[in-house]
Amino acid sequence: MPEFDVVVAGAGAAGMTAALTAARSGLRTVVLEKAPVFGGSAARSGAGIWVPNNDVVLAAGVPDTFAKADTYLAAVVGPEVPAARRRAFLTAGPRAIAFLQRWSPLRFRWMEGYPDYYPELAGGMPGGRSIEPEALDANVLGDELAHLNPAYIPTPAGTVVYDVDYRWLALIARHPRGVAVASEMVLRYLQLAARGQNPITMGQALAGGLRAGLLAAGVPVLLNTPLADLHVEGGRVAGVVALVDGTETLFRARRGVLIGSGGFEHNERMRKQFQAEPIGTEWTVGASSNTGDGIEAGERAGAGLALMDDSWWGPMIPLPEGPYFCLSERTLPGTVFVNASGRRFVNEAAPYSDVVHVMYQGDHFPAWMITDQDYRNRYLFKETAPLLPYPQAWYDSGAVVKDWTIAGLAAKIGVPAAALRATIERSNAQARAGRDTDFHRGDSAYDAYFADPTNTPNPCLAPIWLPPFYAFRIVPGDLGTKGGLTTDARARVLRPDGSVVPGLWAAGNASAAVMGRSYAGAGSTLGPAMTFGFVAGEDLAS
Ligand SMILES: Cc1cc2nc3c(=O)[nH]c(=O)nc-3n(C[C@H](O)[C@H](O)[C@H](O)COP(=O)(O)OP(=O)(O)OC[C@H]3O[C@@H](n4cnc5c(N)ncnc54)[C@H](O)[C@@H]3O)c2cc1C
Repeated sequence: MPEFDVVVAGAGAAGMTAALTAARSGLRTVVLEKAPVFGGSAARSGAGIWVPNNDVVLAAGVPDTFAKADTYLAAVVGPEVPAARRRAFLTAGPRAIAFLQRWSPLRFRWMEGYPDYYPELAGGMPGGRSIEPEALDANVLGDELAHLNPAYIPTPAGTVVYDVDYRWLALIARHPRGVAVASEMVLRYLQLAARGQNPITMGQALAGGLRAGLLAAGVPVLLNTPLADLHVEGGRVAGVVALVDGTETLFRARRGVLIGSGGFEHNERMRKQFQAEPIGTEWTVGASSNTGDGIEAGERAGAGLALMDDSWWGPMIPLPEGPYFCLSERTLPGTVFVNASGRRFVNEAAPYSDVVHVMYQGDHFPAWMITDQDYRNRYLFKETAPLLPYPQAWYDSGAVVKDWTIAGLAAKIGVPAAALRATIERSNAQARAGRDTDFHRGDSAYDAYFADPTNTPNPCLAPIWLPPFYAFRIVPGDLGTKGGLTTDARARVLRPDGSVVPGLWAAGNASAAVMGRSYAGAGSTLGPAMTFGFVAGEDLAS
């Protein structure tokens, strides 16, 4: 029977960080991974990481402090999240980043200019305090590279693309920096390739770097080995029952078990049980193996659950190739969201979680994003360059609808034509005046990040006037779920009465988020997942 000090379930952001921390503290550690690949959603992600006041941003000259971050986070998450957990995150976060830069090949860079999501709140940073991985040489992974979960949207071959490049790429036909950034992406690649490197970035770099850290620390990551249940002995979690070639096998854990098995985004039954219609499993972009197994196992062992009705929401376009998390496309000027009544209902440029919260609160289903040919001529849309037609498959699937008149478009999407016309006329007048007095799009520095600085008088607002007109179907999707096992400031799993489940720790989307129902800035899921993985690893060793 395999026996370790620490057994970790899930080789994603939380699990691999926890395993590395435990191993570097001298504990014999194993990671059990359900999928035939490692990295989970983390490998698919943009890998923005929100960990305030870390060495990387301080070295870049960002004027961050613990006090500023504490004030800001308290205002963003509200009273639902205990102050002790919030502060544990802010205290341990910078240490976690320093630890990873010491014990893995990961190096991080400031996401310069990417604002906090509520930058006007006290302690908020309009210039941003998020970080992302530097390009990683995938050669450090050796044969393990073949087992890295692929990216959600792979970057073009022969380029090195960072998160912060997307804003400029969208503006390639509008702003000289768009062309400059595109050339830089190729140049970076050529420089690294000339040194014999195979550069990867964003989530691929994050998951690859964590895995490389585990390789160096001698921690086995067993693929195709799902946690089936927790093993409890004398009231204490003492191991994991996992399936090895389909056979139940007990992995004993002398110190304890860390659940890092992600959310339940792909579990239809749990979606229906805990969340509201119309959500199901088809609009998430999270890793397909995230089906809430660890949350259910923890609950069977006595754990409490919280935030199960919430998610890391984002408005998606249900494209035939899969749900598309539209970010700059929704925020660039020349779009409005309308509901079935043909009326606007939200600031289209608001943080993605907020947009979907508003959709749910007002029952704004179905919803559509209305745009025109002027918008098509100006901006990149997913991979479709400005001026080019949208792919025919998008029309065939019903994800996008086109017509030469607003009335014709209204008829095709089933909204009242007079109302849609009135909506467009009103938002056009506001765009020309440069002020959205209805939903305040453009009032926050956040709204302007994925906007068009060359557009006047307001970079966030443009009229919709040039036929043909387009309507994109908008559905409430997510990056994954954010509800799960309740934990304390040491990442120990708690029962509903607040007592500790002995031997059990949890981090990442298997645990209820320290962000509560909010999203503080780019990286608000990965920052806490990695930090509480680190906290758990240290606590297991203490
Ligand atoms: C396209 C995309 C972009 C994103 N961009 C960002 C971003 O820029 N910044 C940010 O903060 N967040 C981002 N996210 C969200 C972020 O990736 C996740 O919230 C984060 O990875 C959660 O970390 P985790 O460790 O909890 O789960 P994951 O990273 O998903 O890892 C969970 C792992 O557990 C495994 N597992 C599941 N069940 C079992 C089982 N029974 N036994 C063993 N293993 C199991 C899974 O296979 C998976 O490998 C993005 C997500 C996506 C999909």
